[in-house]
Amino acid sequence: MARSLGCGRLAVLLPLLAACEDEAGVRHAMEREPGPIPDRTTVVLITLDTTRADHLSTYGYERATDPFLAALAAESRVFTQAVASSTWTLPSHVSLFSGLDPAEHGCWMHAGTGPDETIYPRVPDSVPLFTRQLRDAGYYLVGAVGGFLTSRKYGFDRDFDRYFDPGQAAELSGVRLNAFVQVALDDKPEDRPLFLFVNYFDAHAPYGPPADRDYPFGEDGLPEIFPHETEPGPDRIRNIVDQYDRELLIQDEALAQLWHELEGRGLLRNAIVVITSDHGEFLGENGYFEHTTLPYRPLTHVPLLVHVAPGGPRDRIDRVVSIASIPETLLAFLELPPMPVASAGRRVNLLELPPGVVPAYTEFKNPWEWVGAVQDDRHKYALGLGGGTLAPLEFFEASDWQLSQWERGSEAPVPPEVAERLKPELISLMNRWRAAPEDLTFPDLAAEDLEHLRALGY
Ligand SMILES: [Zn+2]
Repeated sequence: MARSLGCGRLAVLLPLLAACEDEAGVRHAMEREPGPIPDRTTVVLITLDTTRADHLSTYGYERATDPFLAALAAESRVFTQAVASSTWTLPSHVSLFSGLDPAEHGCWMHAGTGPDETIYPRVPDSVPLFTRQLRDAGYYLVGAVGGFLTSRKYGFDRDFDRYFDPGQAAELSGVRLNAFVQVALDDKPEDRPLFLFVNYFDAHAPYGPPADRDYPFGEDGLPEIFPHETEPGPDRIRNIVDQYDRELLIQDEALAQLWHELEGRGLLRNAIVVITSDHGEFLGENGYFEHTTLPYRPLTHVPLLVHVAPGGPRDRIDRVVSIASIPETLLAFLELPPMPVASAGRRVNLLELPPGVVPAYTEFKNPWEWVGAVQDDRHKYALGLGGGTLAPLEFFEASDWQLSQWERGSEAPVPPEVAERLKPELISLMNRWRAAPEDLTFPDLAAEDLEHLRALGY
């Protein structure tokens, strides 16, 4: 599946596609006729924003934070080592929709005009999203997103028929999103298959699960709003975990409600459903909270389920995969043209896994620091770039890494064999920033928009 961007810079690739061939000599599919849609397959992509895998019972967590997802997992392919493309919402979602790594699509934090001011670009026109192929194939595209960074302001809606986002609200609950989806489904033309994208945002900070109900775990407590004025002690951290876990349950209930709605309409009889997350969350490990920071495992290890009906695989896959493999997987399954601009990172078809180890890439970048990491089945290896020099930060994690064994580079030197194996690949992947598009634009944000971003921890 490996392809390179060898045809030139991403920004100028699109006009050249007609002449562009990959190493295997296979012509890129921009010119191919769209294939048939097998029996009007429903396609559903759900992102459980801010959901770390190890806080789901699907992944062995002792609390039943996700009873519906766990039941669905028994009828799905479950990836136990899925890697998020970045550690915050915008770049990870662009990777989920484009198949490109953040170093290629450029949707990371950029410097603003004020001191320490960061601004976030819209999805550039030169970055293709897989929703285009679905639109061209006649799909009815419905999006419902609970978070601001996947809203229309950032350009995710470009191919959709209906797109519901928080607008001037800070965020929307899963129940609100489901209500919108219901209305959009009422309006679905009968002759068009459905693509549904939902970004549940309940687990994102602030953590304020409804207080007027019972929960099977945790204790009632105050909502958690970040940042904290003082360093949280053990009691505060316990409350953070309780309220976060309860938000996961609220999210799972919304997911179950959506599922039953789709099922009741007969839309899941022939369907492919992908459920994942854009990043995880720190819950106090080594003093870290929330996300939007370095690519440690609490932020990069995310759930990933692929459910195919009828007759899809029901298994658990322990190999490392990137969530950026989702566009190729969906398009291949639907027999539609693959992404017109391929990533230099190696993608896999999640339903037809190639043999061997395919490392996954993840990164965090802002105007002042940049940390990339590449992960294979044994280790994650990370390098940081700050102030123009590579490697002021270098760390690794073993694949069986446990939170109690947290090791930073300054405390635990990277084993030479890990660096030897993964460093050349990581540097070559990070060097792709040179291919980032030049047509970045930035949305006009009102004062209240900036307030929302600050309230969300950005
Ligand atoms: Zn997010």
